[in-house]
Amino acid sequence: MIDTHAHLYSKEFDTDRDEVIRRAVGNGVSKLIIPSTDAGDFDAMMKLCRDWPQVCFPAAGLHPTSVGEDYETELAFVEKQLDSCSFVAVGEIGIDCYWSMDCIAQQRDAFERQIRMAQRHSLPVIIHARDSFSEIFAILDRIHTPDTKGVFHGFSGTREDYLKIREYDTFKMGIGGVITFKNSKLPQTLEIIPITDIVLETDAPYLTPHPYRGKRNESSHIPLIAQKIAELKNLSIEEVDKITSENAEAMFRI
Ligand SMILES: [Zn+2]
Repeated sequence: MIDTHAHLYSKEFDTDRDEVIRRAVGNGVSKLIIPSTDAGDFDAMMKLCRDWPQVCFPAAGLHPTSVGEDYETELAFVEKQLDSCSFVAVGEIGIDCYWSMDCIAQQRDAFERQIRMAQRHSLPVIIHARDSFSEIFAILDRIHTPDTKGVFHGFSGTREDYLKIREYDTFKMGIGGVITFKNSKLPQTLEIIPITDIVLETDAPYLTPHPYRGKRNESSHIPLIAQKIAELKNLSIEEVDKITSENAEAMFRI
């Protein structure tokens, strides 16, 4: 299995990071995509990926909630990293209208410019969309090309959102712990999402799946998400593992 979204460099893992990764590998989670959020966590992310080559794969990007007045400096930093090291994606990038609308113009600009960076570097993007599908679609409708691939991370949209994304024909949906929550509406949307459009993710340390909700999330919980998807789609967990892993390996070329 592959965890396509884990912030394992964050301070929540300072005391047992290596143990957390060993536990994930022991649970069948063999590869992890590690997205950065801004220049502040970049070194920690790179160290983790150097410590665990062939297991942890880095992505470089400026997260929408990290977009502030200094975003030009941050974007220049992302561009410089993309030119000097090798990454599996540009991410995480996107638009977040939930936490703050203060910098919405800057968020739009940062998102568009990072999509263009991904296009120049032939890399997929990892998109964070929170209360912002219409904002994101407005930009993608303008600049999307058949080579603009990526993942809608933590996808929790409606059927209409999914059908709109499917029109681009180049994106996968990152499904995480939310699918296991009681009262989640996501299972209804999942009915129309084929397994070939799904990759697995934790978003660790956040969004811990049932029955560990409320505790720190970690990549070893990926099988709980795979199991829930298997139940909902009437597949075996082995089939979910095989197809979502193939989806992730093709997308990130890992
Ligand atoms: Zn994230």
